[in-house]
Amino acid sequence: MLTDSFNRVINYLRVSITDRCNLRCRYCTDGTFSFIPHEEILRYEEIIRLVRIAASLGVRKVRLTGGEPLRRKDLAFLLKEIDAIGSIDDISLTTNGVELGTSVETLRDAGLRRVNISLDSLKRERFAYITGVDAFDKVMRSIRKAKLAGLHPIKINTVIIEGFNDDEALDFIDFAKTWEVQVRFIEFMPFGNEGLWERSRIITSAYLEEAIRRVHELHPSVSSDKGPAKMFLLNGSAGQVGFISPMSSHICSECNRIRLTPDGKIKPCLFSDAEYDVKALLRGGASDEGVAEFVRAAVKAKPERKTEAGAVRKCQRSMRSIGG
Ligand code: SAM
Repeated sequence: MLTDSFNRVINYLRVSITDRCNLRCRYCTDGTFSFIPHEEILRYEEIIRLVRIAASLGVRKVRLTGGEPLRRKDLAFLLKEIDAIGSIDDISLTTNGVELGTSVETLRDAGLRRVNISLDSLKRERFAYITGVDAFDKVMRSIRKAKLAGLHPIKINTVIIEGFNDDEALDFIDFAKTWEVQVRFIEFMPFGNEGLWERSRIITSAYLEEAIRRVHELHPSVSSDKGPAKMFLLNGSAGQVGFISPMSSHICSECNRIRLTPDGKIKPCLFSDAEYDVKALLRGGASDEGVAEFVRAAVKAKPERKTEAGAVRKCQRSMRSIGG
């Protein structure tokens, strides 16, 4: 078992496989970033080796993310190889959904069990304004196809931002009910370049929950996965709504994850800039045991909790290059 210095069991690895993305979400990037050079991005065989070693230490859950993971060629190969490790019980994907519709069956057959799709507006024009791309219909088609392909549950991740999409919370509830998906509202976090984030634009989970309760009965969901989201059932539907509150509450005691960035750094805490360069070992001829020792040490360095919510420091990397 992989445990950190505070006795948390770390069994979840989030792997960002690229920093490239086909959307330009306004709150994520101002377009001034430079891409990680190709040769610095971990190759599939390096990712697979690292996942295999992490699995031997106790990791059971892997999520592939980015950037946009579907931008990377032959994702099915990576999924198959991770599935073949045998001890990974849960392989999932976080995607903007734009290109999912065309490959979802292939990905499912390669071992993908479930998917999280990011969607910040249910209005086509607003979607285009937020993301810079008129791809709302493609995302809707992808959600439909993911359901038909039997991926379950389908989670829709929605960052609610003041003055942006905060008028759509109830529409998202209707969407969750009609489409029988889990909509999870996520608080706006301070990542990326200066100017992208302002504290005043955070809509807290408590505020949203209260607004939703004025219209809908919410019943705590017992079946929800262990995870950061507080999930609720919605009357008369298999849909659910959840709240993820990294800014307004401390969910650190429950944290079971570490991250691998596209350029091969282990990031034990999303809210800390501390990173551990495992690529140097993978490319430097280290033995599996050497890499395992490095992963154990990175896990031990995981901080007990993020900085106080009132004093969150901006992290230099954007979510795009960390892997959201
Ligand atoms: N391209 C994939 C997608 O869209 O799901 C994966 C990467 S994207 C960076 C992952 C998630 O991070 C998205 O749901 C996005 O909305 C979220 N995200 C980006 N910047 C954020 C921020 N500052 N606060 C909260 N969530 C953010």
